[in-house]
Amino acid sequence: MRPRASFDVLVIGSGASGLATATSAVQAGAQVAIATKTTLQACNSAKAQGGIQAAFGEDDSPELHAEDVMRSSHDTANPRLVEVLTSEAQSAIHWLEDLGVAFTRSNGGYRLARCGGASRKRLLQVGDRTGHAITKALRETYEESAGEELPHHALRGLEPSQSGWVASFETKEGPAAIEAGAVVLAAGGRCFAEAEVRGELSTNHPNATGEVTRIAVEAGAEARDLDALQYHPNGGAWPSTMQGYSIPETTRAYGAVLLNADGEEFTDSLGPRDAVSQAIVDEVERGKGVLTPDGRPAVWLDTTRIAPDDAEISLPYMLRRYRGANIDPLTEPIYTYPVLHYQNGGLVIDEHAETTLDGLFACGEIAGGTHGRNRMMGNSLLECAVFGRRAGKAAAERGRA
Ligand SMILES: Cc1cc2nc3c(=O)[nH]c(=O)nc-3n(C[C@H](O)[C@H](O)[C@H](O)COP(=O)(O)OP(=O)(O)OC[C@H]3O[C@@H](n4cnc5c(N)ncnc54)[C@H](O)[C@@H]3O)c2cc1C
Repeated sequence: MRPRASFDVLVIGSGASGLATATSAVQAGAQVAIATKTTLQACNSAKAQGGIQAAFGEDDSPELHAEDVMRSSHDTANPRLVEVLTSEAQSAIHWLEDLGVAFTRSNGGYRLARCGGASRKRLLQVGDRTGHAITKALRETYEESAGEELPHHALRGLEPSQSGWVASFETKEGPAAIEAGAVVLAAGGRCFAEAEVRGELSTNHPNATGEVTRIAVEAGAEARDLDALQYHPNGGAWPSTMQGYSIPETTRAYGAVLLNADGEEFTDSLGPRDAVSQAIVDEVERGKGVLTPDGRPAVWLDTTRIAPDDAEISLPYMLRRYRGANIDPLTEPIYTYPVLHYQNGGLVIDEHAETTLDGLFACGEIAGGTHGRNRMMGNSLLECAVFGRRAGKAAAERGRA
């Protein structure tokens, strides 16, 4: 099939990482197209509620942030990628603000929460719709640019060409091929598909199916830690409308604690994700869990300990959803159980987000190394912004060469 169009930079996927890459590549002066499986709005990023980490606190620093990432990853993360992530966090936040993201503020600064595994308060929020706010600002910026949008383009293959790469797609009009000097893979993880195979619930969007990772590996790209999938400690377990919903970790940052059937705290509710998830599973296995009205295993998340003022500012969406189902988390505890959430590993990248193949870049959840085998909450949106920005710049240089 002859390529029907040619661009400097072709971005695959329209979540936070793809939109950040495309916006940054346009800012670097490249001719850019963003191709995505369904609509530009469809992605995991827009579902992210909790927030994004950056060391703005007076008692905090990028070095402390990096230490927390390395410790939470059990020293499996790539220290160079972690250094880039944490040292560019502040400028990535300011970049997002310049594009229109209004982070929640209090007492003249950002409203910062402490998230699981963190030694300091470091989580910035936009209420509890942080991912929605970030993707909206990035998408609107990109839509105003000269960049091309290619919705309903599902990547099916990648081949090297003389001037870069040829990507083949399945579209509504049939197969299509597009040539680009550089290709950036930003197609997210695979937890929706994996949960279906395991017969479990997932927080993920149905487009999170992982075929782009397979295509890249088949083309020769190296991957790492692909077996390391993350459970979100606090999946909604009841009511049925909340099953598979990720109860924001900020509930615990603002005082909610995990309780067993006897009302006892059985773990550090703000520990690293893998530790908290495992503690819940273990507690249920030793007979100290509770059963939801439809017979699912669970423990309690005592959300009644959250101060109403904090909840109204930082958890309005979550409150609305539970109250819509006639449950008020501020007056009664809620059922929770871990749920499949995030692909920790992915394609190996360098500090400019280039994979092990020339001119093929990757960023966001599809890339591995930044979180090692266990990601901290709030570092994925940050990774999308920091490495998306880097990928866009580096791919623009490569694509225009
Ligand atoms: C419910 C939920 C809450 C979360 N909360 C937080 C949080 O508070 N803080 C935080 O940091 N992280 C959070 N995360 C994690 C974070 O949001 C994601 O890991 C991150 O946004 C992934 O961004 P991405 O751009 O890499 O992928 P995605 O946002 O998943 O985007 C992938 C894109 O690729 C497209 N695509 C897929 N396959 C193909 C294909 N074959 N061809 C073309 N396009 C394709 C998809 O349609 C989509 O547009 C949360 C995740 C979920 C699901």
